[in-house]
Amino acid sequence: MKTFEIKIWGTVQGVGFRPFVHRLAKKHGLTGFVANDGSCVLIVIKADNKKLEEFIRDLKQNKPQSSDIVNLQVTENTCGVIASKEELQNINSLSDDFIIKPSTDNSEGPVFISPDIAVCDNCLKELYRETDRRYLHPFISCMECGPRFTIIDRVPYDRENTTMSDFPMCDSCLKEYRDIDNIRYHAQTVSCHDCGPQLEFVEAGKDGKLTGFEAFLRVVEILKQGGILAVKGIGGFHLCCSPFNENSVNKLRKLKGREEKPFAVMFDNIAEIEKYCIVSSEEKKQLLSRERPIVLLKRKKSDICKSVFKSSKYLGCFMVYTPLHKMLINSVGPLVMTSANISDRPIIIDNEKIMSLMDKGLSGVLYNARRILTGIDDSVIKVNSSTGIQFIRRARGFVPLPLYLGDRFKNVRPILACGSDLKNTFCIAQNGYAYLSQYGGDLEEEEAFRMFRENIDRFKRIFRIKPEKICCDLHPGYYSSKYAKEYGIEVLEVQHHHAHILSVMAENCLYKPVIGVAFDGTGYGTDGAMWGGEFLVVSPEGFKRAGHLKYVPMLGGDSGVKEVFKTGYSYLYDSGLDIHIRDERWPLMKAALANNINTVMSSSMGRLFDAVSFIAGIKSYSSFEGECAILLENCASDYMEAFNLMDLFSHYPMGKSVNGCMPYSYDIIEMDDKLVGDMKRCIEEIFADSLKGEDKRKIAWRFHLTVIDYILTMCTKLRELYNINDVALSGGVFQNSIVFEGAVNVLKHNGFNVFFNVKVPVNDGGISLGQVFAAMLEE
Ligand SMILES: [Zn+2]
Ligand SMILES: [Zn+2]
Repeated sequence: MKTFEIKIWGTVQGVGFRPFVHRLAKKHGLTGFVANDGSCVLIVIKADNKKLEEFIRDLKQNKPQSSDIVNLQVTENTCGVIASKEELQNINSLSDDFIIKPSTDNSEGPVFISPDIAVCDNCLKELYRETDRRYLHPFISCMECGPRFTIIDRVPYDRENTTMSDFPMCDSCLKEYRDIDNIRYHAQTVSCHDCGPQLEFVEAGKDGKLTGFEAFLRVVEILKQGGILAVKGIGGFHLCCSPFNENSVNKLRKLKGREEKPFAVMFDNIAEIEKYCIVSSEEKKQLLSRERPIVLLKRKKSDICKSVFKSSKYLGCFMVYTPLHKMLINSVGPLVMTSANISDRPIIIDNEKIMSLMDKGLSGVLYNARRILTGIDDSVIKVNSSTGIQFIRRARGFVPLPLYLGDRFKNVRPILACGSDLKNTFCIAQNGYAYLSQYGGDLEEEEAFRMFRENIDRFKRIFRIKPEKICCDLHPGYYSSKYAKEYGIEVLEVQHHHAHILSVMAENCLYKPVIGVAFDGTGYGTDGAMWGGEFLVVSPEGFKRAGHLKYVPMLGGDSGVKEVFKTGYSYLYDSGLDIHIRDERWPLMKAALANNINTVMSSSMGRLFDAVSFIAGIKSYSSFEGECAILLENCASDYMEAFNLMDLFSHYPMGKSVNGCMPYSYDIIEMDDKLVGDMKRCIEEIFADSLKGEDKRKIAWRFHLTVIDYILTMCTKLRELYNINDVALSGGVFQNSIVFEGAVNVLKHNGFNVFFNVKVPVNDGGISLGQVFAAMLEE
C-alpha cells in the first residue's frame, strides 16, 4: 500500500467536488482525505497502483457536471515531501476512514471560472412540474447548470460578484441555498418567480411592455405568425424566426446584412434533429453535451427553407440550452437562432442597444433585467468521422477554461498574445495555464476592436494576470499588432503560420521538431509576401520555411478575397492562359499584373482553392470568406458520394488512379534550400477540363486528390531531408474535411505521426495560443 497525493486544478471548488470525492473514495474503499488547497483540490489516499488507477478513472468519468478538470497530477508520497508531517500522521491515524478536511485559504494560485452551462435535466423536470414553485420559470437553474462566465464580475464565484446580485433571494430560495442537501445549495444563480429576473417584451409599434407569462404567450404567437424577434440568452441576444418560413428568413438576412452565410437552427431534441440531418453517435454526444455547441451536420432533404442554409451541405444544429429556449421551442418548434449583430460586429448584450434594431424589421424584443457582462457567441464545431472534433469557433460553453501547457512553463513570466485580426482570439497565460478568449470577430470592425481591448482588460483583472511580455502577428497593418506595440512592454512578433503550427505543438505538448503544414487564406510572411501554402520545419528554437507554393502575383490585395475572379485571372495569367479570358475588365487588370500595380506575391493555398473554384466554373465571387472554396469542396463531396468513395483515404494508393481519377499534375522544384510547389500544370489541366465541359464535381474531386497527394509528396521529401517523422497540420484550409481527413489518413498510412488542433480552432482562432507558446519557448 502506498500513499498518493492527487492535485486537481480546474473548476473544482464550489461545485460539490469534495463531497463527490468523499462518496467516490468510500465506494472504492479508500482511506485518506480531500481538501481545497489554494486554488486546487488536494486528495491524499492510500492505495495500490491498480486501485489508484480505477479511482482516477471513475473520478474523471463521473465528476459533477459543473466541474472541469484542467490539470490533474499524481505524486507518490513516500517520505512526506508534500504533505506536512502532521498530515501524514493524520492519514496514518485515519487508517480506516476518508474525510473532508477544512479548506485552506484559496486566494492563491491560478484562477478558474466555469464556462456557462446548459440547463440540466433536473431543472427541466421542475420547469414542467405543475406543483413545483418554479413551474415555467424561464430562469430556473441549480448548482449543476446556468450562466457563469457571462455574469461574473470578479472572483470568487459568489453571488455578490455576479449580476445575480441585482436579485436578492426570497426566503424560500435562501432556504434552499443554505441547505446542504439541496441541489441549489450554494448555487449562485438560484432564483424563482418571486425574486428572479422576469420576462419582459416590447413589441414593435406598440407602447408599453408585457411581462412574465403574458409576454411569453405573445412571443409564441408572433413567432408562429412568421415574426422575427430578438431574444436575450446567455451570451447576448439572438435573432430568431421560423426556419420553415422563407419570407421570414429572408427578412432576417436583410436585417442582419448577411447574404449567404448559413444560419444555425435550434432544436428541442435529437429525434427532431434527425428529421433534418444525419447524426452520428459522436455528434449526438456533442449536441447533448453541457457546452451545447452548434454542430455542423450533413443535411437531409427536408422542408427547412433553402434560405437558412443557402449553398451549404451542412446545417448548423444545436440543442436548447436555457429554460427559456426550451419553453419557446416546445411551443413553436425549431427556430433559426443567430447572434444578434449587424454583419460581423460583436453580439449585442445591452437591452437599450437591441431596441435600436426595432425599426429595421424586428417584430419585438424579449429581454430581462439580468445583466450580461461578457458577450459571447455560440461555439461551432464539426465532427469528422476519422479525426473527431474540430473547432470552427470556440466560445460559449468552453471559454474561459484554460489549457495546461505543462510544468516546464510554471515559472514563465505572464504573457498576453493578441492573436490575428481575423477570427480574433487573444490568449493570456500564467503558471503554465493559457486562457484563450472567446471568438472576437474581425478587428477591422471598430466595435470588434473595442471589445477586444475591453475583454483583454477583463481577462487580466479576473484572472489576476499582469502581462510582462506581449505577442502579436508579424503583420504590421494588424490592429492587434499595433495594440501590442503600444502596450509598453517587451514585444514578440510571431509569423502567422509559425503560430498556427505552434498551436498544434502546444496542444499536444510537442517539444521536438515537426514538419508543419500550414495552409490558409493569408498571413504575412517574413519577406513581406502573402503566405498561406507553407511547409515549415518547426522546433522549440524557431522555424525554417522548408517549402511553399510557388509565388503567384495576385491582383487587388485583400479585395481578391471576395472578388475571386481576380484570383482566378491571376493564376491564368501566371500559367500563360490569359489569352482565353473574355472580360472587358481584363486589359486593365493585365496591365496591373504586368506592372506590379496593387499586386501582391502569394503562396496561399486558400487562394489556389478560390482560383480553381473560379476556373472550374463553380463561382466567381465569395460573399463571405472562403465561400468559393467551400463550394468547391461541396462539388468534390458530391462526386465522392456519387461514386461511393467516402472511406477511401485509409487505403488510397497515392500516385495511382482512383476510380479512373488521377491527381492533376504539378511540379516540385528545389529553389535555394526550399521545395517549391508549382501548380502551373494543374491549372492548365483544370482549365482544359473546364473548356471541354468536364463534370465540375469530377474536376473538384481531382483537385482535392491533387492537394492531398501534394501534402504527402512534400512531407515525404521533407522527411528524407530533415529526418523528421512528425507532421502538424493547421490553418483554415483544413476546415475542408476532404483535404483534412484525406491528409491525416494518407500521412498515417505512410508512417507519419500526425498531429492537429482538437482543443482550439484550426483557423485563425488558434493563432493566439501559438503565439503564447512561442513566447514560452523563448523564455
Ligand atoms: Zn439545473
Ligand atoms: Zn426566490
